Amino acid sequence: MIEYPRIMQVRAHDFRPRDLVAGDLVLDFVNTVTARDTEPIDWLDAYAALLSWARLAGLPPAALAGLAAEAQAHPRRAARALADAKVLREALWELLTALSEEDTPPPGALVRLTESWRAAAAAVVLTDLDGRLEATVTPETSGLAYPEHYVALRAVRLLENLPSPRLRVCGGIHCGWLFLDTSKAGRRRWCDMATCGNAAKTRRHRSVVQP
Ligand SMILES: [Zn+2]
Repeated sequence: MIEYPRIMQVRAHDFRPRDLVAGDLVLDFVNTVTARDTEPIDWLDAYAALLSWARLAGLPPAALAGLAAEAQAHPRRAARALADAKVLREALWELLTALSEEDTPPPGALVRLTESWRAAAAAVVLTDLDGRLEATVTPETSGLAYPEHYVALRAVRLLENLPSPRLRVCGGIHCGWLFLDTSKAGRRRWCDMATCGNAAKTRRHRSVVQP
């Protein structure tokens, strides 16, 4: 089982496209904590940060627009919704890392995901998507829990199709991001070749030059 530090610093962050490299929205959400392997930093410092991540991750912008105003009007409820979303995120981290190692899913994490999923399921609406139906949530039915519910639904869908031999934890130092290896050979070790992959190459190079 992967044991990483649990104490996290919380730090404001400007989410950018390069923060979404996991190949799946659920994994990208778990990756809002970086450097899990050394000194974890939680980038969700406020409910507004959760909304900017959600916008970048492709949750419907129209759905998110009203939530910013609602969060400002009800800061305590927004703080609670953010805390709940983080409980889900950490449960997903435990579940996904266990599954990536072909370990048994930790029961506590399963219970927490079930709770989020049940709350999401209670808010579900069926919408017509070009001739097929999709079970989804809306801010009208989920309120400030909309991002959490959205991720919970997607997470169960993802986990129903796991374990996947392509689910990995990045081997980079100060990273610990999850990703799906979609490469042809299936031997990708880094979340992003341009960051962690390059750093590893540089380190290897240095250790050759300065033994
Ligand atoms: Zn990485």
